[in-house]
Amino acid sequence: MTIETGTLPPKPPPPSSAAAPLLSFDAVEKDYSNEGERVRALDGVSLDIGSGEFVALVGRSGCGKSTLLHLAGALDFPTAGHVRLAGTATDTLNEAGLTRLRREMVGFVFQSFQLLNTLSVVENVEVPLLLAGETHPRPHAMERLAEVGLAELAHRMTHQLSGGQMQRVAIARALVHGPRVLLADEPTGNLDTATGNAILQLLRRMCDEHGVTVLMATHSAEAAALANRVVRMRDGRVVEAG
Ligand code: ADP
Repeated sequence: MTIETGTLPPKPPPPSSAAAPLLSFDAVEKDYSNEGERVRALDGVSLDIGSGEFVALVGRSGCGKSTLLHLAGALDFPTAGHVRLAGTATDTLNEAGLTRLRREMVGFVFQSFQLLNTLSVVENVEVPLLLAGETHPRPHAMERLAEVGLAELAHRMTHQLSGGQMQRVAIARALVHGPRVLLADEPTGNLDTATGNAILQLLRRMCDEHGVTVLMATHSAEAAALANRVVRMRDGRVVEAG
């Protein structure tokens, strides 16, 4: 094979260049099998999310929001198409690469908080650091707890907290390892309006002060109003990209 250097195409930009989206969905389809029947949860989603954006993902229950978040965090993979995080297609990585990508790039917050109830507040926040091999995670975890206003409750067990406090711990835990993307699935769904709004303000602050990119599935009008961009889904498709 001969290569004529004069006719080579221009060098593509590196995957992590500033111009590239931090998170991108390229013609993504996702099928599940439900008792032998195929369910198409995502039906050709193409969407780019830039670094530092705060995006609300809205749409009726069952339209594919959680599926999109799972794929964004490389917890699951597309049936067709690609999901790219910082330019890397999640379906091209081996187990070690995936573990690294999830640990370094992504934090998750869930409606049900998903704290470990056998651990104290600060021990919950330490978990991602321990998994990343940090041997003295306490000061770092305490710093994050202070940031979410819970330093004084560090040694409580999680069942001694209110719902809003639990979600604050979950946010501290999701961000303690410095991920670039925070994926939040109905983070205010189990909270009363005032507490939910305080959680939204906290997420907004994390985006503004730390440049964390937030992708949040929500039913809440307040949550959507706080975002820079609202992405609307219907029947597995993006019908409005914001
Ligand atoms: P939303 O988060 O908007 O409520 P989901 O992403 O949870 O929507 O679900 C989209 C569709 O995919 C729904 O029809 C749902 O029943 C189906 N679905 C989601 N997860 C699974 C699964 N693990 N197995 C089978 N079907 C699923």
